[in-house]
Amino acid sequence: PTLVRMDHISKIYPNGTVALKDVQLDIREGEFLCFVGPSGCGKSTIFKLIAGLGEPTDGELAILGMTPKEARKQSEIAFVFQDSTLLPWCSVQDNVTLPLDLRGGPKAVQKQEAERVLELVGLKDYMKVLPRQLSGGMKMRVSIARALVSRPKLLLMDEPFGALDEITRQTLQDELLNIWQQDSKMTVLFVTHNVFEAVFLSTRVVVMTPRPGKVSGTIDIPIPFP
Ligand code: ADP
Ligand code: ADP
Repeated sequence: PTLVRMDHISKIYPNGTVALKDVQLDIREGEFLCFVGPSGCGKSTIFKLIAGLGEPTDGELAILGMTPKEARKQSEIAFVFQDSTLLPWCSVQDNVTLPLDLRGGPKAVQKQEAERVLELVGLKDYMKVLPRQLSGGMKMRVSIARALVSRPKLLLMDEPFGALDEITRQTLQDELLNIWQQDSKMTVLFVTHNVFEAVFLSTRVVVMTPRPGKVSGTIDIPIPFP
């Protein structure tokens, strides 16, 4: 089934910048889709529109038949950014359960869910630790856990590993693929300007050209694992 449908999407910012022009893109449930392209080609703009932060100037954008804002309200969408900030005075557990706490879920369930997602990222023994006691890679794992806690159908990742050293980045790539493989319905959209990263991770690469919003076509990459 189609998860995201972008039909003739254009985005012109108030200052006149044409960030996207006539973008046509369907994303299926369960895909791991990487967007590659140089700075300024509109990658972040596509993400913001999918996240419901701002409206397209033109065209139709639907997520599971809903508007992006509705989808976000129903916790179908979660985000991880390079600098996804953890609250420094809250434990790993409290950082991870924040999205559930905001919705007022019962505390016992919140704890269970924190255990579930921290297990996924290998940090179950770090529930009570404060963020500053963690390495960069571990902080990123906590950010990923926080994104997964609401069981999103769509995970948006905007250059998440851009600030990590090469070894940590490779480890996190492997871990992310494992997490994605365990949930056949979760769709990951991943922005990177590292073509190697895109090819390694994704089931499909969307290349955006330097010309604003020109999605130059998609390259389907067979999944390199069983
Ligand atoms: P990318 O993420 O690929 O670097 P962006 O989506 O951030 O690209 O930007 C696409 C184009 O839109 C660029 O020319 C950028 O300068 C412009 N742009 C982005 N955000 C805004 C904004 N809030 N107001 C005006 N122009 C913007
Ligand atoms: P970076 O500092 O580049 O982010 P890592 O995230 O790989 O590197 O981890 C840095 C240190 O933290 C290493 O010594 C590693 O052994 C330790 N570490 C990372 N993840 C865990 C974990 N799940 N359990 C125990 N130790 C960990």
